[in-house]
Amino acid sequence: MVFTRRDLLATAAGIAAGAQAQTPSGAVTPCAIASVNGLRAVSKALEMIRGGADVLDAVIAGVNILEDDPQEHGVGLGGMPNEEGVVELDASVMHGPTRRAGAVGAIQKIKNPSNVAKLVMERTDHLMLVGEGALRFAIAEGFQPTNLLTEDSRIAWLAWKEKRGTAWGPGLADGSGAMASASAETRTFAQRMLDHPITGTINCLGVNAKGDLSGTTSTSGMAFKIPGRVGDSPIIGAGLWLDNDIGAAGSTGRGEENIKICGAHTVVEYMRHGASPQDACLETLKRIQRTYFGNRAKLEKVDIDFYALNKKGEYGSASLWDHQGDGRVSRYAVADAKGARLMDCAFLMTR
Ligand code: ASP
Repeated sequence: MVFTRRDLLATAAGIAAGAQAQTPSGAVTPCAIASVNGLRAVSKALEMIRGGADVLDAVIAGVNILEDDPQEHGVGLGGMPNEEGVVELDASVMHGPTRRAGAVGAIQKIKNPSNVAKLVMERTDHLMLVGEGALRFAIAEGFQPTNLLTEDSRIAWLAWKEKRGTAWGPGLADGSGAMASASAETRTFAQRMLDHPITGTINCLGVNAKGDLSGTTSTSGMAFKIPGRVGDSPIIGAGLWLDNDIGAAGSTGRGEENIKICGAHTVVEYMRHGASPQDACLETLKRIQRTYFGNRAKLEKVDIDFYALNKKGEYGSASLWDHQGDGRVSRYAVADAKGARLMDCAFLMTR
Protein backbone atom coordinates (compact mmCIF):
# COMPACT_ATOMS: atom_id res chain seq x y z
CA MET A 1 0.00 0.00 0.00
CA VAL A 2 1.33 3.45 -0.82
CA PHE A 3 0.15 6.77 0.49
CA THR A 4 0.54 10.35 -0.39
CA ARG A 5 0.28 12.98 2.30
CA ARG A 6 -2.62 14.27 0.27
CA ASP A 7 -4.36 10.91 0.59
CA LEU A 8 -4.09 11.32 4.31
CA LEU A 9 -5.10 14.97 4.46
CA ALA A 10 -7.42 15.66 1.57
CA THR A 11 -11.04 16.05 2.49
CA ALA A 12 -12.26 16.02 -1.10
CA ALA A 13 -11.93 12.66 -2.78
CA GLY A 14 -10.02 12.30 -5.97
CA ILE A 15 -7.37 14.97 -5.50
CA ALA A 16 -4.34 13.60 -7.27
CA ALA A 17 -0.79 14.80 -6.78
CA GLY A 18 0.90 16.46 -9.71
CA ALA A 19 -0.68 18.62 -12.37
CA GLN A 20 -2.55 18.38 -15.62
CA ALA A 21 -0.66 20.99 -17.54
CA GLN A 22 -1.88 20.71 -21.09
CA THR A 23 -4.04 23.58 -22.36
CA PRO A 24 -7.18 22.84 -24.41
CA SER A 25 -5.19 23.71 -27.57
CA GLY A 26 -2.76 20.91 -26.76
CA ALA A 27 0.15 23.22 -25.93
CA VAL A 28 2.00 22.32 -22.76
CA THR A 29 2.19 24.75 -19.87
CA PRO A 30 5.93 25.25 -19.33
CA CYS A 31 7.11 23.82 -16.06
CA ALA A 32 10.27 23.03 -14.10
CA ILE A 33 10.60 20.69 -11.14
CA ALA A 34 13.54 19.95 -8.85
CA SER A 35 14.60 18.41 -5.57
CA VAL A 36 13.62 20.27 -2.39
CA ASN A 37 16.66 22.56 -2.48
CA GLY A 38 15.71 23.73 -5.96
CA LEU A 39 13.15 26.50 -5.45
CA ARG A 40 15.48 29.16 -6.83
CA ALA A 41 16.52 26.82 -9.62
CA VAL A 42 12.99 26.09 -10.84
CA SER A 43 12.08 29.80 -10.71
CA LYS A 44 15.07 30.67 -12.85
CA ALA A 45 14.54 27.75 -15.22
CA LEU A 46 10.88 28.58 -15.78
CA GLU A 47 11.64 32.25 -16.38
CA MET A 48 14.15 31.27 -19.06
CA ILE A 49 11.89 28.62 -20.63
CA ARG A 50 9.10 31.19 -20.87
CA GLY A 51 11.58 33.61 -22.44
CA GLY A 52 12.30 31.08 -25.18
CA ALA A 53 15.59 29.64 -23.91
CA ASP A 54 16.54 26.07 -24.69
CA VAL A 55 15.23 23.93 -21.82
CA LEU A 56 18.66 22.48 -21.04
CA ASP A 57 20.21 25.95 -20.83
CA ALA A 58 17.34 26.93 -18.53
CA VAL A 59 17.69 24.05 -16.07
CA ILE A 60 21.48 24.40 -16.02
CA ALA A 61 21.15 28.14 -15.27
CA GLY A 62 18.82 27.22 -12.41
CA VAL A 63 21.25 24.65 -11.03
CA ASN A 64 24.18 27.10 -11.40
CA ILE A 65 22.55 29.22 -8.66
CA LEU A 66 23.11 26.39 -6.19
CA GLU A 67 26.50 25.38 -7.58
CA ASP A 68 27.70 28.97 -7.07
CA ASP A 69 26.28 29.30 -3.55
CA PRO A 70 28.86 28.40 -0.84
CA GLN A 71 26.01 27.81 1.62
CA GLU A 72 24.64 24.94 -0.49
CA HIS A 73 26.67 22.15 1.01
CA GLY A 74 25.81 19.37 -1.39
CA VAL A 75 26.50 21.04 -4.72
CA GLY A 76 29.38 22.90 -6.38
CA LEU A 77 31.30 25.48 -4.33
CA GLY A 78 31.02 24.57 -0.65
CA GLY A 79 30.04 20.97 -1.45
CA MET A 80 30.98 18.33 1.11
CA PRO A 81 34.46 16.88 0.62
CA ASN A 82 35.61 13.29 0.36
CA GLU A 83 37.42 11.57 3.24
CA GLU A 84 40.65 13.36 2.29
CA GLY A 85 39.05 16.81 2.42
CA VAL A 86 38.82 17.23 -1.34
CA VAL A 87 35.55 18.25 -2.99
CA GLU A 88 34.75 15.94 -5.92
CA LEU A 89 31.68 16.73 -8.00
CA ASP A 90 29.44 14.65 -10.28
CA ALA A 91 26.94 15.94 -12.86
CA SER A 92 24.94 14.89 -15.88
CA VAL A 93 22.79 16.56 -18.51
CA MET A 94 20.29 15.27 -21.07
CA HIS A 95 18.87 17.25 -23.97
CA GLY A 96 15.53 15.87 -25.13
CA PRO A 97 15.11 17.38 -28.60
CA THR A 98 18.51 16.16 -29.83
CA ARG A 99 18.54 13.00 -27.68
CA ARG A 100 22.03 13.66 -26.39
CA ALA A 101 23.67 13.36 -22.99
CA GLY A 102 26.89 14.29 -21.21
CA ALA A 103 28.39 13.70 -17.78
CA VAL A 104 31.37 14.24 -15.52
CA GLY A 105 32.36 12.19 -12.47
CA ALA A 106 34.66 12.98 -9.54
CA ILE A 107 35.76 16.28 -11.04
CA GLN A 108 37.73 18.54 -8.69
CA LYS A 109 38.16 22.34 -8.57
CA ILE A 110 35.40 23.26 -11.05
CA LYS A 111 32.30 24.68 -9.37
CA ASN A 112 29.86 24.19 -12.27
CA PRO A 113 30.10 20.53 -13.30
CA SER A 114 26.69 20.75 -15.02
CA ASN A 115 28.21 23.14 -17.57
CA VAL A 116 31.19 20.84 -18.05
CA ALA A 117 28.81 17.91 -18.61
CA LYS A 118 27.03 19.93 -21.31
CA LEU A 119 30.34 20.61 -23.04
CA VAL A 120 31.25 16.92 -22.90
CA MET A 121 27.96 16.37 -24.74
CA GLU A 122 28.54 19.15 -27.27
CA ARG A 123 32.26 19.10 -27.94
CA THR A 124 33.40 15.52 -27.64
CA ASP A 125 32.33 12.22 -29.07
CA HIS A 126 32.35 10.79 -25.55
CA LEU A 127 29.56 10.84 -23.02
CA MET A 128 31.36 10.87 -19.69
CA LEU A 129 34.70 12.16 -18.42
CA VAL A 130 35.99 11.53 -14.91
CA GLY A 131 38.63 12.69 -12.47
CA GLU A 132 41.82 14.27 -13.78
CA GLY A 133 40.72 13.95 -17.40
CA ALA A 134 37.49 15.79 -16.69
CA LEU A 135 39.42 18.58 -14.95
CA ARG A 136 41.88 18.90 -17.82
CA PHE A 137 39.00 19.01 -20.31
CA ALA A 138 37.27 21.75 -18.28
CA ILE A 139 40.45 23.83 -18.08
CA ALA A 140 40.97 23.43 -21.83
CA GLU A 141 37.41 24.69 -22.33
CA GLY A 142 38.15 27.81 -20.27
CA PHE A 143 36.84 26.94 -16.79
CA GLN A 144 38.79 28.44 -13.89
CA PRO A 145 40.01 25.92 -11.29
CA THR A 146 39.23 27.12 -7.75
CA ASN A 147 39.34 25.77 -4.23
CA LEU A 148 35.83 24.43 -3.58
CA LEU A 149 36.38 23.61 0.10
CA THR A 150 34.81 26.40 2.16
CA GLU A 151 35.64 27.04 5.80
CA ASP A 152 32.36 25.47 7.00
CA SER A 153 32.99 22.33 5.01
CA ARG A 154 36.64 22.13 6.10
CA ILE A 155 35.72 22.32 9.80
CA ALA A 156 32.95 19.75 9.35
CA TRP A 157 35.43 17.43 7.64
CA LEU A 158 38.02 17.86 10.44
CA ALA A 159 35.33 17.25 13.06
CA TRP A 160 34.34 14.09 11.20
CA LYS A 161 37.97 12.89 11.20
CA GLU A 162 38.26 13.59 14.92
CA LYS A 163 35.07 11.70 15.64
CA ARG A 164 36.37 8.60 13.88
CA GLY A 165 38.86 8.07 16.70
CA THR A 166 42.05 8.19 14.67
CA ALA A 167 45.12 10.23 15.59
CA TRP A 168 43.13 13.27 14.45
CA GLY A 169 41.37 14.59 17.48
CA PRO A 170 41.50 16.86 20.47
CA GLY A 171 45.10 17.29 21.58
CA LEU A 172 46.09 15.44 24.76
CA ALA A 173 47.15 18.69 26.41
CA ASP A 174 44.29 21.09 25.80
CA GLY A 175 41.44 18.85 24.68
CA SER A 176 40.29 21.21 21.93
CA GLY A 177 39.21 20.00 18.52
CA ALA A 178 38.74 21.70 15.16
CA MET A 179 35.35 23.02 16.12
CA ALA A 180 36.61 24.81 19.22
CA SER A 181 37.93 27.86 17.40
CA ALA A 182 35.19 27.98 14.76
CA SER A 183 32.31 30.48 14.72
CA ALA A 184 29.01 29.51 16.32
CA GLU A 185 27.39 29.07 12.88
CA THR A 186 30.20 26.84 11.64
CA ARG A 187 30.03 24.76 14.82
CA THR A 188 26.28 24.32 14.36
CA PHE A 189 26.77 23.28 10.76
CA ALA A 190 29.62 20.90 11.60
CA GLN A 191 27.60 19.28 14.37
CA ARG A 192 24.67 18.82 11.99
CA MET A 193 27.03 17.16 9.53
CA LEU A 194 28.27 14.81 12.23
CA ASP A 195 24.75 13.89 13.33
CA HIS A 196 23.34 13.50 9.82
CA PRO A 197 25.99 13.78 7.11
CA ILE A 198 23.95 15.52 4.48
CA THR A 199 24.16 15.29 0.81
CA GLY A 200 22.34 17.87 -1.21
CA THR A 201 22.21 16.92 -4.82
CA ILE A 202 19.99 18.92 -7.13
CA ASN A 203 18.03 17.33 -9.94
CA CYS A 204 16.16 19.80 -12.16
CA LEU A 205 13.86 18.88 -15.06
CA GLY A 206 12.02 21.18 -17.45
CA VAL A 207 9.51 21.17 -20.28
CA ASN A 208 8.56 23.96 -22.68
CA ALA A 209 5.31 24.72 -24.52
CA LYS A 210 6.32 22.37 -27.36
CA GLY A 211 6.76 19.51 -24.92
CA ASP A 212 10.54 19.48 -25.29
CA LEU A 213 12.26 18.11 -22.21
CA SER A 214 15.72 18.46 -20.68
CA GLY A 215 17.31 17.84 -17.31
CA THR A 216 20.42 18.01 -15.21
CA THR A 217 21.65 16.53 -11.93
CA SER A 218 24.59 18.00 -9.99
CA THR A 219 26.15 17.00 -6.67
CA SER A 220 29.17 16.72 -4.42
CA GLY A 221 27.92 13.21 -3.67
CA MET A 222 28.10 11.45 -0.34
CA ALA A 223 29.90 13.44 2.32
CA PHE A 224 33.29 11.93 3.28
CA LYS A 225 33.17 9.33 0.54
CA ILE A 226 36.22 7.37 -0.56
CA PRO A 227 38.12 9.43 -3.15
CA GLY A 228 37.01 8.42 -6.61
CA ARG A 229 33.56 7.26 -5.52
CA VAL A 230 31.02 8.19 -8.16
CA GLY A 231 27.34 8.16 -7.29
CA ASP A 232 24.21 8.00 -9.40
CA SER A 233 24.02 11.68 -10.35
CA PRO A 234 26.30 11.46 -13.42
CA ILE A 235 25.06 8.03 -14.44
CA ILE A 236 22.73 8.38 -17.41
CA GLY A 237 19.76 6.15 -16.61
CA ALA A 238 20.20 6.36 -12.83
CA GLY A 239 20.43 9.96 -11.55
CA LEU A 240 18.93 11.34 -14.75
CA TRP A 241 17.14 10.00 -17.79
CA LEU A 242 14.64 11.26 -20.30
CA ASP A 243 13.00 10.40 -23.58
CA ASN A 244 11.64 13.43 -25.39
CA ASP A 245 8.62 11.40 -26.54
CA ILE A 246 7.65 10.39 -23.01
CA GLY A 247 9.09 12.25 -20.05
CA ALA A 248 12.03 12.96 -17.79
CA ALA A 249 13.13 11.66 -14.41
CA GLY A 250 15.88 12.17 -11.86
CA SER A 251 16.84 11.25 -8.36
CA THR A 252 18.49 12.38 -5.16
CA GLY A 253 19.53 10.23 -2.22
CA ARG A 254 21.50 7.02 -1.82
CA GLY A 255 23.10 6.76 -5.24
CA GLU A 256 24.32 3.19 -4.88
CA GLU A 257 20.74 1.94 -4.50
CA ASN A 258 19.63 3.90 -7.53
CA ILE A 259 22.40 2.69 -9.83
CA LYS A 260 21.47 -0.92 -9.07
CA ILE A 261 17.96 -0.45 -10.43
CA CYS A 262 18.66 2.12 -13.21
CA GLY A 263 16.17 4.34 -11.41
CA ALA A 264 15.53 7.34 -13.68
CA HIS A 265 15.29 5.11 -16.75
CA THR A 266 12.88 2.85 -14.92
CA VAL A 267 10.66 5.81 -13.96
CA VAL A 268 10.44 6.93 -17.59
CA GLU A 269 9.68 3.39 -18.76
CA TYR A 270 6.78 3.18 -16.29
CA MET A 271 5.47 6.46 -17.73
CA ARG A 272 5.85 5.05 -21.23
CA HIS A 273 3.51 2.25 -20.18
CA GLY A 274 0.91 4.67 -18.87
CA ALA A 275 1.84 5.39 -15.26
CA SER A 276 1.42 8.91 -13.92
CA PRO A 277 4.70 10.58 -12.93
CA GLN A 278 4.00 9.98 -9.24
CA ASP A 279 3.04 6.33 -9.70
CA ALA A 280 6.09 5.77 -11.89
CA CYS A 281 8.28 7.05 -9.04
CA LEU A 282 6.52 4.81 -6.51
CA GLU A 283 6.82 1.71 -8.70
CA THR A 284 10.53 2.42 -9.14
CA LEU A 285 10.99 2.74 -5.38
CA LYS A 286 9.46 -0.73 -5.02
CA ARG A 287 12.39 -2.05 -7.05
CA ILE A 288 14.76 -0.66 -4.44
CA GLN A 289 12.59 -2.12 -1.69
CA ARG A 290 12.81 -5.60 -3.20
CA THR A 291 16.62 -5.52 -3.29
CA TYR A 292 16.46 -5.69 0.53
CA PHE A 293 14.49 -8.97 0.74
CA GLY A 294 12.20 -7.56 3.42
CA ASN A 295 15.04 -6.43 5.69
CA ARG A 296 13.33 -3.30 6.96
CA ALA A 297 16.07 -2.39 9.43
CA LYS A 298 18.60 -2.14 6.61
CA LEU A 299 16.20 -0.37 4.28
CA GLU A 300 15.56 2.26 6.96
CA LYS A 301 19.13 3.43 6.42
CA VAL A 302 18.30 4.30 2.81
CA ASP A 303 16.82 7.63 1.75
CA ILE A 304 16.01 8.21 -1.88
CA ASP A 305 13.61 10.37 -3.86
CA PHE A 306 12.55 10.28 -7.51
CA TYR A 307 11.19 13.20 -9.56
CA ALA A 308 9.28 12.85 -12.80
CA LEU A 309 7.87 15.16 -15.44
CA ASN A 310 6.09 13.93 -18.53
CA LYS A 311 5.81 15.41 -21.98
CA LYS A 312 2.36 16.82 -21.21
CA GLY A 313 3.77 18.81 -18.30
CA GLU A 314 2.38 16.52 -15.59
CA TYR A 315 4.75 15.99 -12.70
CA GLY A 316 5.16 14.06 -9.48
CA SER A 317 7.70 12.85 -6.95
CA ALA A 318 7.99 10.05 -4.44
CA SER A 319 10.24 9.22 -1.56
CA LEU A 320 11.06 5.81 -0.10
CA TRP A 321 10.00 6.94 3.39
CA ASP A 322 7.44 9.41 4.74
CA HIS A 323 10.29 11.41 6.21
CA GLN A 324 14.08 11.38 5.87
CA GLY A 325 16.38 9.86 8.49
CA ASP A 326 16.77 13.28 10.13
CA GLY A 327 13.02 13.79 10.38
CA ARG A 328 12.62 16.13 7.39
CA VAL A 329 9.44 15.52 5.43
CA SER A 330 10.25 14.86 1.78
CA ARG A 331 9.27 17.66 -0.56
CA TYR A 332 10.13 18.85 -4.05
CA ALA A 333 10.16 22.15 -5.89
CA VAL A 334 7.81 23.05 -8.72
CA ALA A 335 7.47 26.16 -10.86
CA ASP A 336 4.59 26.41 -13.32
CA ALA A 337 1.59 28.65 -14.02
CA LYS A 338 0.72 28.54 -10.29
CA GLY A 339 4.11 29.96 -9.30
CA ALA A 340 7.15 28.44 -7.58
CA ARG A 341 6.48 26.36 -4.50
CA LEU A 342 7.42 23.24 -2.53
CA MET A 343 5.09 20.25 -2.71
CA ASP A 344 4.94 17.09 -0.63
CA CYS A 345 6.38 13.94 -2.17
CA ALA A 346 4.33 10.77 -2.15
CA PHE A 347 5.99 8.01 -0.15
CA LEU A 348 6.21 4.24 -0.23
CA MET A 349 6.62 3.40 3.44
CA THR A 350 6.21 4.99 6.87
CA ARG A 351 9.11 5.03 9.31
N1 ASP B 1 22.64 10.85 -5.11
C1 ASP B 1 23.82 11.45 -4.59
C2 ASP B 1 24.92 10.43 -4.63
O1 ASP B 1 24.70 9.29 -4.29
C3 ASP B 1 23.73 11.95 -3.19
C4 ASP B 1 22.42 12.60 -2.78
O2 ASP B 1 21.59 12.88 -3.59
O3 ASP B 1 22.21 12.83 -1.60
O4 ASP B 1 26.02 10.81 -4.94
